[in-house]
Amino acid sequence: MSQLAYRRILLKLSGEALMGNEDYGIDPLVIHRLAREVMEAQDAGAEVALVIGGGNIFRGAGLAAGGMDRVTGDQMGMLATVINALAMQDALEKLGAKARVMSAIKINDVCEDYIRRRAIRHLEKGRLVIFAAGVGAPFFTTDSGAALRAIEIGADLLLKATKVDGVYDKDPNKYPDAVRYDRLTYDDVITRNLQVMDTAAFALARDSDLPLRIFDMSQPGELLKILRGEDIGTLVQGRSE
Ligand code: UDP
Repeated sequence: MSQLAYRRILLKLSGEALMGNEDYGIDPLVIHRLAREVMEAQDAGAEVALVIGGGNIFRGAGLAAGGMDRVTGDQMGMLATVINALAMQDALEKLGAKARVMSAIKINDVCEDYIRRRAIRHLEKGRLVIFAAGVGAPFFTTDSGAALRAIEIGADLLLKATKVDGVYDKDPNKYPDAVRYDRLTYDDVITRNLQVMDTAAFALARDSDLPLRIFDMSQPGELLKILRGEDIGTLVQGRSE
């Protein structure tokens, strides 16, 4: 087993990462590829926990904009994350992995309730854990769920997979001269007003000194390279001075 830079990681995927070229739902080929990469990370010796968003199905804010009660919309969004987590569990199991979905809202006919000690035990026993339903409360996002769970399980790194290959000084899709940062401190993110995660999630990570790496997982093989210590995407950690 090769030496890894991180022992236990939490990988946050947006719901949209599962869509591939569709505009809704889950592309089976895409989720299969992502599951394979997660398994490769585990095979390399890492303990891997996952959080998957729900934006490919429902987001509470979007439903509220269409006239729905916000809390009901957020509950639908949380259920969407459970659907995605079940799909990922299935994809992982098809590849021979052992995986458990743990939900922050009680829905224990379909998955386990989130219990911190049990989650850590699963990881220690070589099971992949998928945390569903965010923090279990409306008005939060799965970024907050990812930061919270990463801290609770003592993850060495929170990896946030996005459609861009790191954090830029401005939107690289709009501005060809946008510059990507290799490394940032938490304070840099705040003073430069950079978009890394939502404010609640970022505050959690910062207060607990949880290192974050933002990278593009649509590029195959990046996850494993990061685990092996390669400087891919943008690393956010530490304080200025
Ligand atoms: N959500 C929530 N509380 C949480 C996590 C998620 O209410 O702790 C709801 C919220 O409506 C959110 C939706 O679930 O928009 C889907 O999560 P998110 O938007 O984070 O998904 P992503 O953008 O990562 O696909």
